[in-house]
Amino acid sequence: MVGKIAFLPGDGVGREVAGAARKVLVAAAQKYGVSLEFNECVFGGAAIDECGDPLPEQTKTVCLEADAVLLGAVGGPKWDGATIRPEQGLLGLRSALDVYANLRPIQVAKGMEGFSPLKKEIATDVDLLIVRELTGGLYFGKREEGMDTARDECLYTRAEVTRVARIAFEAARKRDGRVTSVDKANVLATSRLWRNAVNELHEKDYADVKLDHMLVDAMSMKLIQAPSSFDVVLTENLFGDILSDEASVLSGSIGLAPSASLGDGRRGLYEPIHGSAPDIAGQGKANPVGMLLSAAMMMRFSLDQAEIASCIENAISRALAAGRGTGDIGGKDSCMSLTDYICETL
Ligand code: ATP
Ligand code: MG
Repeated sequence: MVGKIAFLPGDGVGREVAGAARKVLVAAAQKYGVSLEFNECVFGGAAIDECGDPLPEQTKTVCLEADAVLLGAVGGPKWDGATIRPEQGLLGLRSALDVYANLRPIQVAKGMEGFSPLKKEIATDVDLLIVRELTGGLYFGKREEGMDTARDECLYTRAEVTRVARIAFEAARKRDGRVTSVDKANVLATSRLWRNAVNELHEKDYADVKLDHMLVDAMSMKLIQAPSSFDVVLTENLFGDILSDEASVLSGSIGLAPSASLGDGRRGLYEPIHGSAPDIAGQGKANPVGMLLSAAMMMRFSLDQAEIASCIENAISRALAAGRGTGDIGGKDSCMSLTDYICETL
């Protein structure tokens, strides 16, 4: 047995794409003669319906005892405006697992250039990784909300910056050896601390990695003008939220993009970047690729099975290059038929 996976299909298309990932993982593990244990748990809206809590104690316990958590998506119109919301379960899970670094690789796969809004000559060769700080900054600061005045506090400690920067530098060593750290150091005190802490860690432990700094406004232009000039992009919570959505459109469809959230140690939370997509849920139209690539990241980072990860990634690339795909990328496949094709060609 190589790993215990907490399996959380969640809601909407999350259920369809998570089912696809499980199928591909089982097939790939079988091919390599290893076995995976899946512990399925109720989470999100489905858990609210079942027991009034989007993150039931039992689910949390299984996740904390697992090597990795594989999540579909949560949410849906059924719970809009409710006092308890599915998304609270997701924030609770991220903080219970203490996953402070969100990693989103952005690539334009062969055959997908036509779906990227970039010109073809710019879309080829895009291969970058955004590392976003996930548990600090403006999203977690104190708030004051008055009728005419409001305040959101942005707070970072050197230790919070250093630990996420370390993840970015480690990732760069396994890639092209370059980190671009993004901040707004000409205006913000937290950005000056950010830059200083990143430089300090760089000098101390990662002098072999090439480091540059960029202001977030310049970065938001450069990401469209010259996305292939970046390798690892490191940034704080709010800037990362915005830049990673901007970058995800480069790949052609929201259904293609994976993510991993990591903390100390090997355990991670893996999910596609899309949500529950209520407009297409239950129709077999969901693109499973973002979820499958998330499952591959899980095999590589948390279960130490790089070969299986590459095998899954290669099968996906071959399927896309052969013109297979769901409707969002101009194909005729259903979620299931694309998944079956990928399983057969692993
Ligand atoms: P949520 O609140 O759960 O995020 P949402 O309404 O914002 O739901 P998203 O899941 O974020 O919906 O999706 C945004 C758009 O992208 C929708 O039109 C959806 O159909 C489409 N989309 C999302 N995921 C996929 C997918 N896997 N395959 C194809 N299209 C998708
Ligand atoms: Mg959404």
